Amino acid sequence: MAVPKKRTSHSRKGKRRSHLALKKISLAKCPECGEPALPHRVCPSCNRYKGKLVLPFES
Ligand SMILES: [Zn+2]
Repeated sequence: MAVPKKRTSHSRKGKRRSHLALKKISLAKCPECGEPALPHRVCPSCNRYKGKLVLPFES
């Protein structure tokens, strides 16, 4: 098994994790009802995508 020769310093660990932050989700306004919704997805409040009504999936 590979064993690290030197311990990782707090600084180096922090630098490595500088790219790991979560990004804020981007919300676009629904053109139909004006509610904030995820872009390229069916609006959860009016069930519409590109002006067309999309029925929810039923199992
Ligand atoms: Zn909507």
